[in-house]
Amino acid sequence: MAVTTVGVIRERYPGENRVAITPDVVTRISTDDVTVIVESGAGTGSRFSDEDYRTAGARIGSLKEVIDNASVICCVNPAEPDGLRTGQILIGVFEPLHRTDLIKRLQAIEATVVSLDLLPRKLSRAQSMDVLSSQANIAGYKAALVAADAYGRYFPMLTTAAGTSQPATVLILGTGVAGLSAIGTARRLGAVVTAYDVRPEAKGEVESLGARFLELTSVASGSGEGGYARQLTETEREAQQAELAEAIGRFDVVITTAKVPGRKPPILVTEDAVARMRPGAVVVDMAAGELGGNVAQVKSEGSFETDNGVTIIGAGNLPSQMAPAASTAYARNISAVLKHLIVDGTVHVDTDEEITGQIVVTHQGRPVSPALADALTESTDQAGDSA
Ligand code: NAD
Repeated sequence: MAVTTVGVIRERYPGENRVAITPDVVTRISTDDVTVIVESGAGTGSRFSDEDYRTAGARIGSLKEVIDNASVICCVNPAEPDGLRTGQILIGVFEPLHRTDLIKRLQAIEATVVSLDLLPRKLSRAQSMDVLSSQANIAGYKAALVAADAYGRYFPMLTTAAGTSQPATVLILGTGVAGLSAIGTARRLGAVVTAYDVRPEAKGEVESLGARFLELTSVASGSGEGGYARQLTETEREAQQAELAEAIGRFDVVITTAKVPGRKPPILVTEDAVARMRPGAVVVDMAAGELGGNVAQVKSEGSFETDNGVTIIGAGNLPSQMAPAASTAYARNISAVLKHLIVDGTVHVDTDEEITGQIVVTHQGRPVSPALADALTESTDQAGDSA
């Protein structure tokens, strides 16, 4: 009988507390033909001890023991562990379009890379595997809490013997999964919430959560492929920024979440917009990262105060700040992926199948995902151009 050993490694990215598989999922996936080996300490940041994993049925080992024994290795962030062999399968969030060098190295040793950020989002069969949604839900919730914490006044309207506080006015820019989660949380905290997205179809979702939709007259529909936003033209971008700047000055708190797949996040909050805000206002940029952010002055992580007293926060890795919840959700997604790939104890990488064909980045030394094949060709061309 075939047996597949699934390995779990400790995350090595600075500040990362999540783990790819939790003890609960070890129990779910362990069968006569699937065993699990976990690197010692992998769950510590998410409050899961080695003992918890043992009790759930996993073996505990060193990193080397995990790599030597596992045919499938699960992680959260991109990983390239020493000793990786031809045919081994890595499953995580590799952001392959931004990491073509790493992917080329893994392709050269004929490792198989499964990157869950490439999952087709609108396919209902794939929803249980959707790590972008599960993590964005948590991040949106936490962003509203971070904003409330940094804001020096109440979010709700409160009446006490000392008088009545006005509710905070909150503007959410970008209403994908994270934005909708931030709307729900800010509303639950009692704020008066307005939201905007460049996709007109977002209006109904925003209003169904009890928030007001901000209509801009200067930008036509920004809907792109697959439910994502398209990149705006320069003229549209400038018009959008100018119209948003007028609106932003009226809010106490702004939370930005806007992204365009494979591109730099669009600037939605310019320096002019921040200059119009009141002292004590707070801006949380969830898109802030290596590629920039939605706020002109934002740093990828951490907060600072502008000359006019506005606190600007680069949100950083919010799911990691709620690691037990984030790992629990991520691990359930991984469990669904493993169930999809492992049949009777054997891993089947059927690249002709609809989901597998999208999430497998490289297999047997060849690029599989159509999105990545283009990116690899482009990066080779650029290297050739610059040589
Ligand atoms: P995302 O993280 O790519 O972007 C966040 C939001 O920013 C999006 O709503 C996008 O429209 C918006 N945005 C981008 N550029 C903008 C701009 N210039 N101005 C204003 N807003 C801008 O989004 P996501 O959370 O990954 O969601 C992407 C899409 O996938 C959405 O349509 C979402 O409803 C859909 N989705 C569907 C399912 C499902 O059907 N199962 C699951 C998850 C997501």
